[in-house]
Amino acid sequence: MLANRILANEGVLDAFGHVSARHPSDPARFIISRSLSPGQVTVDDLQLLDAGGARIGGDGRASYAEVAIHAGLYRRRADAMAVCHSHASAVIPFSVTDMALRPITHIGAVMGPRVPVWDSAMKFGDRMLVTTAEQGDSLAEAVGDGSVALMRGHGFAAAAQNLRACVMIAIRVMQDARHLSAALSLGPVTYLSAAEVKLSRSLILSPLSMDRAWGYWTSRLPR
Ligand SMILES: [Zn+2]
Repeated sequence: MLANRILANEGVLDAFGHVSARHPSDPARFIISRSLSPGQVTVDDLQLLDAGGARIGGDGRASYAEVAIHAGLYRRRADAMAVCHSHASAVIPFSVTDMALRPITHIGAVMGPRVPVWDSAMKFGDRMLVTTAEQGDSLAEAVGDGSVALMRGHGFAAAAQNLRACVMIAIRVMQDARHLSAALSLGPVTYLSAAEVKLSRSLILSPLSMDRAWGYWTSRLPR
């Protein structure tokens, strides 16, 4: 529930987009809000979905249209314990041009060395919303073993080994995209090296660092 509020407060999620967590004791299921703007989500809004994205327990409330993004990533990535889908506008330029999104800050290293772009039109025609298992599988394939993939003209999907890391990756993908757009307008850009990405990523996603970040994000939530 807090992840929804944090990502909304930090501008990663607005009316749309969503975040989920794999069920801690039943890995074939995941927890996600009913169809609702993330900034409004309370514990009562959470739903339990199966690996196909179907609601469990007779909950009749509508789910998000794109739960297939989450289901696809949980099916493909046994290590993924959390998933986020965002429409953050800062990443869009990198999803519709040949300019790759790569980290330029040490915290941005959490996105991994390079972010692939998934183009729904390559296999699914005009349907840009990810609403089927086939689309979810295709997007999850694009994410591969990485942390995030951009979705052309749409946003991004991120997967991580825990919810806090997922929140960090989602926030930093958005922020580094913003920084990179600004840097590219000034001149040639120095990106992090592969070794810098690897070392910085492990430090930023360490428990000590994540505890501090989580405390900061929660302290910023409206009372
Ligand atoms: Zn979407």
